[in-house]
Amino acid sequence: MAATGEAAKPILRVAGVRKAFDGKTALADVSLDVHEGEVVVVLGPSGSGKSTLIRCVHQLDAIDGGAIYLDGELLGYERRRGGLRALGERRVAVQRRRMSMVFQQFNLIPHFTVLRNVTEAPRRAHDRPRADAEQDALELLDRVGLRERAHDYPRQLSGGQQQRVAIARAVATRPRILLFDEPTSALDPELVGDVLAVMRGLAAEGMTMIVVTHEMAFAREVADRCVFMEAGRVVESGPPDELFTNPRTERLRSFLSRHN
Ligand code: ADP
Ligand code: MG
Repeated sequence: MAATGEAAKPILRVAGVRKAFDGKTALADVSLDVHEGEVVVVLGPSGSGKSTLIRCVHQLDAIDGGAIYLDGELLGYERRRGGLRALGERRVAVQRRRMSMVFQQFNLIPHFTVLRNVTEAPRRAHDRPRADAEQDALELLDRVGLRERAHDYPRQLSGGQQQRVAIARAVATRPRILLFDEPTSALDPELVGDVLAVMRGLAAEGMTMIVVTHEMAFAREVADRCVFMEAGRVVESGPPDELFTNPRTERLRSFLSRHN
């Protein structure tokens, strides 16, 4: 549950965001607040804009309209003489450091060891001393059950293990919010459970997360709120129990019948 009261400021505010690719709408007018400690699961059919939404939050795609705020700070733009001006790469990179994203394809650096994959961002982007970063990383690897694999390379690990390393890496920079884009969709079914267990643990510790997933049992059990998207819009949102047992739209009803 959210650790703060109703009146508290959201960690993340997505306000009327629009995004198109080559004139084709990917996000029509998306608004979403995420409060401290909240787990928001984003559901929706393929092509509904789920990845685009969290890529825009992570400043990997530029928005065409609306605004995104992290802890009240406008992301990607600054206000200048009444107008908005896009920030340069370096300032965007500084803003991005306060978030972490976990991708479907893990995206570990293949020629770095597991340990170095986890310590690289804390050392380079956050100026943590090496010994410090390594001690932290080993503790995180322990939590995801992979401490003894610290000196292996990603290719020596299963997909599920690589994804758990990617999660440890994401947490190592102590982000304000963690963004997951279908973290278990590329995994063999028998490897999904361990990854979801790690995510469940993070949620229980109060990590603020947005999770795009088709894992309905996970959504039901872990989400404080579910958001159902279709065609670039939020069609329904609410507590999972409400959405799953009492969908208000035919579109969500039919989506659920296909995914349960
Ligand atoms: P989802 O993650 O829900 O499957 P996406 O956010 O990936 O959906 O895509 C939303 C829409 O935007 C789709 O129509 C998709 O084809 C389009 N789209 C996403 N990324 C790009 C891109 N880089 N270039 C062109 N079109 C894109
Ligand atoms: Mg996607």
